[in-house]
Amino acid sequence: MPIVRVALPLPLPQVFDYLAADATAEDVGRCVKVPFGRGERNGLIVALACDADVDGGIDPGRLKTVLHIQRDVLPLPADWLELVAFVARYYHAPLGEVVALALPPGLRRADGVSAEDEDPLLDIGVAGTEALQATRRPSKALALLQALAQDSPPWRRSVVREREGGEAVGDLLRRGWLVPAAEDAQRLDATGSLPALTAEQDGALQAMLADGEGFRSWLLHGVTGSGKTEVYLRLAAHMLTQGRQVLMLVPEIALTPQLEQRVAQRFAAARVVSLHSGLADGARSRGFVQALSGHADIVLGTRLAVFTPLPRLGLILVDEEHDASYKQQEGVRYSARDLAVWRARQRDVPVVLGSATPALETWYHAHNERYALQVLSQRALAAAMPTVRCIDVRRLKLDEGLSPGLLAAIGQRLARGEQSLVFLNRRGYAPVLSCPSCGWVSRCPHCSANLVVHLVDRRLRCHHCGCDAGMPRACPSCGNQDIQPFGRGTQRVEARLAELFPQARVLRVDRDAARTRKQWEGLLATIAAGGADILVGTQIMAKGHDFPNLTLVGVIGADASLHAADFRAPERLFQQLMQVGGRAGRGSLPGEVLIQTEYPAHPLFLHLARHDFDAFARMELQSRRSAGFPPFSHQAMLRADAPALDDALEFLRHARRLADARATEGVRIFDPVPMRMTRLARRERAQLLIESDQRGPLQAFLADWVAQLYCQRSARELRWQLDVDPLEV
Ligand code: ADP
Ligand code: ZN
Ligand code: ZN
Repeated sequence: MPIVRVALPLPLPQVFDYLAADATAEDVGRCVKVPFGRGERNGLIVALACDADVDGGIDPGRLKTVLHIQRDVLPLPADWLELVAFVARYYHAPLGEVVALALPPGLRRADGVSAEDEDPLLDIGVAGTEALQATRRPSKALALLQALAQDSPPWRRSVVREREGGEAVGDLLRRGWLVPAAEDAQRLDATGSLPALTAEQDGALQAMLADGEGFRSWLLHGVTGSGKTEVYLRLAAHMLTQGRQVLMLVPEIALTPQLEQRVAQRFAAARVVSLHSGLADGARSRGFVQALSGHADIVLGTRLAVFTPLPRLGLILVDEEHDASYKQQEGVRYSARDLAVWRARQRDVPVVLGSATPALETWYHAHNERYALQVLSQRALAAAMPTVRCIDVRRLKLDEGLSPGLLAAIGQRLARGEQSLVFLNRRGYAPVLSCPSCGWVSRCPHCSANLVVHLVDRRLRCHHCGCDAGMPRACPSCGNQDIQPFGRGTQRVEARLAELFPQARVLRVDRDAARTRKQWEGLLATIAAGGADILVGTQIMAKGHDFPNLTLVGVIGADASLHAADFRAPERLFQQLMQVGGRAGRGSLPGEVLIQTEYPAHPLFLHLARHDFDAFARMELQSRRSAGFPPFSHQAMLRADAPALDDALEFLRHARRLADARATEGVRIFDPVPMRMTRLARRERAQLLIESDQRGPLQAFLADWVAQLYCQRSARELRWQLDVDPLEV
């Protein structure tokens, strides 16, 4: 009887064998339900066992039998299985866990999912043409038909639905005014009138097209507003008309509804599928299956979309490739950006990494000819880059962290009817409650973090573990009634600005104010409609949006990142300030960026003032080279956590002894240390860094070591994870 090898979502490194009477090679890549322990599990068939496996020790007599093979959905193709196998190998994660992460939950549970066409392509039918010519009473349906007739067909139903009066689409279909159109690749070309490309855009596009359809990694390094998106869309159009699929990754889909809309408008006939974790299970499975069956033309998604099966894949685009959200920070800690490059190589298609502020690793590759480089140095709309100046705050008296110079500049903008943004570098600016007489601060009882003050509902919250408490009226330690929030959170700055500028409308734009996509869209609409004069925002403001009436960005709290222990902190600060500065003064109004700092002569700020990313990158890479940090070395971090710190440390010490016994040439193993944020959600955390100049020896060492770690008996309640290429060290 055939034996199938099944990957199950368990923290165990092996696959599991089952008997399956009717299984064939066609079933490899299919979801399966199997008995496991006393219950049942869903998994994926990754291979059939062969005679050699049986000779090698499988005893068919002891195997259980599969309960059900899910055959309603196409099996996942071989290249997809290779991808998840690579991820399991490279990140040293159990294959079953990688599969569980990569598949939409609905699909895994083998719920009925159909690839049926729910978004047909439509054209104006004979009855529609007649209706346009006849003199008819005006109606909603007719108005929609007339509007469509101005435009070039065909359109997806969903695209018609989004137009003004689109509710009438069902009506038009019933009347036969709109009819299904034939699917064909030529129709997928861009619709509507396109802007003429700038010389730089055209140069980049032509170079990429001339390079052909094979594998190449490109860095498209273009200043904010240089029109990188336009280049992506032209490349996508080319691939679509070749009958190929395009995968477009964005850092956070909740923050990019504009892009989704832009893509849908540009390619009215293309089947655009969005994939992100915010979707309901059904929608995510449907999108996944449409991609798998080759129905979907464009897949637009967040990091998990890198796992979408795409039989006709022709191009991968990674927008804002420097964004840290491409790296999964829990479970299987993969980098979607890095996997995008791997997949492009595997499938022999080009991949374009785009950014105004590339990750230094990417920049380094692009300047060492591993990647091909295209630069867009000018803004598309002829707007000047903003002026960047430091405000030296060493001898100034600040009002809630705001300097007189910055307040005056905000006042000017108000008088001119323009918008300002006060940007808080959150690192080092937590608004905690403290007592000036005894020094008490509001610490989280479960973490080593401080509780953060939320003035609106007068709560104290831990931003790490979520612990939530009421705000005390007096100091719990000495009874002092005069306890003050210390440090400046967005809410505090917002409150003070509202006092100082009573005529201004102050709007806070941070994670709290934009928790859901709906809230974020609401905030964007308010800003775009001129419904706010002063914005107070965090990192979220540095992500890819244009605010044409915004002409001033004031930065407070930047210094905390200059001397941070994390070697990537200056890179992140530079990226954020350049991105947020790039939001200012698009359109016809020039922008200004004012940075409050005690280090006005710091080279980071000097390079920023000149908009010279390359000079910053060279400087920073120089210091990384001398310190032996990535990209001049490769790292992995073993983390352990337990209720008691000693247990976590002891596990790591033991792991270190194992490592020392087998250490490979060129692999450096450091001492276990408690993590900077030691306590998180009632658990104590420690870590152990491994480093190597070469990836190969590091990977070989890790494979061997991790196999050993799985065999160790460890203290109760101890958990450990390996993070390959960690972003936070
Ligand atoms: P980036 O992604 O590089 O920040 P975008 O692609 O968002 O830039 O383009 C910035 C702005 O310039 C957008 O409003 C876009 O519509 C416009 N734009 C881009 N390319 C052109 C062009 N060739 N002609 C006119 N406008 C353009
Ligand atoms: Zn906490
Ligand atoms: Zn006190």
